[in-house]
Amino acid sequence: MSYDPANIFARILRGELPAHVVEETEDTLTFMDIMPKANGHALVIPKEGAPNIFEISDDGLHKLITQVKRVAKASQRAYPGNGVRVIQLNGSEAGQSVFHLHFHIIPSADGMNFGFHGGAAADEASLSEHAQRLKQALATID
Ligand code: AMP
Repeated sequence: MSYDPANIFARILRGELPAHVVEETEDTLTFMDIMPKANGHALVIPKEGAPNIFEISDDGLHKLITQVKRVAKASQRAYPGNGVRVIQLNGSEAGQSVFHLHFHIIPSADGMNFGFHGGAAADEASLSEHAQRLKQALATID
């Protein structure tokens, strides 16, 4: 599938739309999901413009998954007592709604009950608070 540079995450990467950024690396950006499935729901995206896992370069995917692991570790530290869901969707048939590759990192405590999407937008104060919590945990990860 072709990559549309006008997608929401590409616009966040260019600074055209705001985001609660948790961490930026040379190759990735981590920020809070605006309609979180749980407090602390973060998204990790590559800077490389790929719509899905099939289209990204192997090198780009390697860097991305390394950052996914780092943020998942931070999530575990920031939300003790929770498990961590790492979810990634490819294609509208699979439920993907933003066509810039991304991994969801979601602190989860509800067992197998993982209905996806359809949450309400969180308020700015809550997104900011949870971005801060993840940032603090990231600072403790090598
Ligand atoms: P997916 O269905 O896997 O493509 O997930 C896209 C995710 O992007 C959803 O969980 C949305 O809540 C989230 N989202 C959409 N727009 C924004 C935005 N402007 N900032 C942060 N997250 C967003």
